[in-house]
Amino acid sequence: MKVLTGILNGNKCPECGNAKLYSLSDGRFKCASCYHKFSPRMVQKDSEVLRLFAEGYSANKAARESGYNYRTVANRYVTYRREIVEYLDNLYRRELQGKVPSTSPLLQEPQMRNNGKPRDEIKVLGLLELNGNVYTVSRDGITPDVLLNQIQDHVDKCRIYSALPFRSYHSFELTHRIPVTGNTESAGSALGQFWNYLTSELRKHRGTSSEYFHLYLKELEFRFRTQEQEVFSLLAGIHFGIKEPS
Ligand SMILES: [Zn+2]
Repeated sequence: MKVLTGILNGNKCPECGNAKLYSLSDGRFKCASCYHKFSPRMVQKDSEVLRLFAEGYSANKAARESGYNYRTVANRYVTYRREIVEYLDNLYRRELQGKVPSTSPLLQEPQMRNNGKPRDEIKVLGLLELNGNVYTVSRDGITPDVLLNQIQDHVDKCRIYSALPFRSYHSFELTHRIPVTGNTESAGSALGQFWNYLTSELRKHRGTSSEYFHLYLKELEFRFRTQEQEVFSLLAGIHFGIKEPS
């Protein structure tokens, strides 16, 4: 974590990476290039919380462990997760560009009737496997409890779950198979492994409101595709915005 060390020592700007910084009388630094001001103490605190997040601590446990206020920690967690969503969206665009047929149900918005009600079934969770990576797409309004029920009822993998509009989520129906290349049916496939991972992790997030669910889902997708020992350095790169020189 050379970059983070540089920021903490006051020889790297967390905004633009510039090495020339002025020390301010209040202990902060000011970048000579972009004029960004920052406090190494705040960056230190942020990186501590980020490390606990990377290690899989809940916001509650992280607050206890670090001694920081729970609300502060919880807000940071939401920020980290939003950054993960943005990071994965970019990856998704780059890696799937031109590889998924535009007719794929995963990527299509539901067709609307003239009265504004959806004509087709609404997809609530889509999973796609490509080259060993798993991509998730979810709709608003979905919760872990809803999904867990579905997973228990339909242990089949490699499918999109969808629900007819205005029915309860308990009447989900399986409709489409996801068009993917390679053998995704075997239990050893990445998709199969992801299902198992998702199922066990969702149990921990029972009771999560639908407002935040897509953030958890993306976090799981992120963790699933990242080596455990690389989670923190990758997150720090995303969060502090500066890539480690390779
Ligand atoms: Zn700067």
